[in-house]
Amino acid sequence: MIRATLGIALALAIVPAVATAEGIEFHTDLPGEQSPASFEAKPQPHVLGIKYLYINRCAGGCVITKGTDDARTHSTAAPDDPGGTKYNLSEFAHGDESWNEVMQCLREVYSPYDIIVTDQPPPAGVPYNEGIAAGTQRELNLSGLLGYAYNNQDCSPRSYALSFTFANEFSPQSINGMCRVVAQETAHSFGLTHSFEFTDGRSACNDPMSYRTDCGGRRFFRNDFARCGEYEAASCGGCGGLQNTHQKLLNILGPGTPLTAKPDVTLTSPQNGATVVNGSFVGAQAFSERGIFAIELWLNGYKWNTVKGASWGSNGQAIATYQVQLPADVPDGVIDIVVKAKDDIELTTETPVITVTKGSPCASADTCAAGQRCEAGKCFWDAPVGEVGDVCTFEQFCKTGVCTAVDSGEQRCSVGCVQGIADSCPMGFTCLETADVGGGLCWPSDDIDTGCGCSSGGELPVTSLFGLGLVALLFRRRRR
Ligand SMILES: [Zn+2]
Repeated sequence: MIRATLGIALALAIVPAVATAEGIEFHTDLPGEQSPASFEAKPQPHVLGIKYLYINRCAGGCVITKGTDDARTHSTAAPDDPGGTKYNLSEFAHGDESWNEVMQCLREVYSPYDIIVTDQPPPAGVPYNEGIAAGTQRELNLSGLLGYAYNNQDCSPRSYALSFTFANEFSPQSINGMCRVVAQETAHSFGLTHSFEFTDGRSACNDPMSYRTDCGGRRFFRNDFARCGEYEAASCGGCGGLQNTHQKLLNILGPGTPLTAKPDVTLTSPQNGATVVNGSFVGAQAFSERGIFAIELWLNGYKWNTVKGASWGSNGQAIATYQVQLPADVPDGVIDIVVKAKDDIELTTETPVITVTKGSPCASADTCAAGQRCEAGKCFWDAPVGEVGDVCTFEQFCKTGVCTAVDSGEQRCSVGCVQGIADSCPMGFTCLETADVGGGLCWPSDDIDTGCGCSSGGELPVTSLFGLGLVALLFRRRRR
């Protein structure tokens, strides 16, 4: 059984064999625990709440035993040898400088989560997972691999998991290469599977959970929903409909303190005091260690436009100049401009305020947009106060910026959600399907008319596909 499983894994691994900026990529994993009986030992009990990730360079070498997956005994099921076979894995061959850089990379990559990432062995009694970063595949009588890990089919986390990154297969300079494979293998132990592409079609090549190598640079667990798969988009299997690697680690490990720097952003045009017109562009130059996820244009305290971050190239995402257009419906008046640069985990940097004028300063709210006030020649909305579910008449009232209605009912503040993802909406809300945004919107569960007279004001009858279809047909978004 294990032979067949390994054979499939190797076949998959050998197919791409593409040269990348960081060397030949043979990385793969074993789809572990499909047949626990074949592992010649009982599945180990798992402890929740692992807070300690031990990265082992195998100083002086590690002795690995063929057996079940267990960090405490340094045993692993992957090699196709009799149980009890011993292997000597050579120590990390690239010296202290490379090792320290790999460790620093891993600490950054895991820094948004509440876990210690260290090369010091765990104190007695502390539950842990271990990622070995040493040796070669041959030393474990394997081939076609840069690393492997066991992954629970239901994507639940494991403890005392032992994963391998064959660091001595890499060049000493391939810090990002070693870092991403260690990150992927160790994250499999926390229940993550492989990401293929984000829902808008961008490659997941900037996430360590992806096999894709169409971009380079340092990889981070991305706060973005991805379709799963190794070489093509596929189902996420037991992990749910889509995978957000950042959110999954947040849920499992809890929040930490990001070590990555906030974005750098400079407003390049227009000049303070300038005159602008409908359709004018605001220019900004921005860079971020994790990459710019979005550049936002804020006018008099309101976000009027957003552009996505630049695409990733062979060295990651370069510093880039972004042009964000003033929408045509910005009211005339005095305008304070702020540009905000955000990475994917919402680390944000704002530019200092500049003030421009478009047309004439407003004299009253009559020339302003719905719900706005006019003061000092500026049309503006008060800061939003509407929570999800509150009745609204204009979207700027809502903290989420979404004010919409179901069928002919009242407009309420809402927020986007992803159907099939647990906790995608706050408690008491249901994620309604909306064809036009390709996702869903959160709506108060007790305000949903299923149109079939079969709901008594409780949960949406999710077992009834007929009922769901009617809701989708009746649902209309009125405002953005
Ligand atoms: Zn993997």
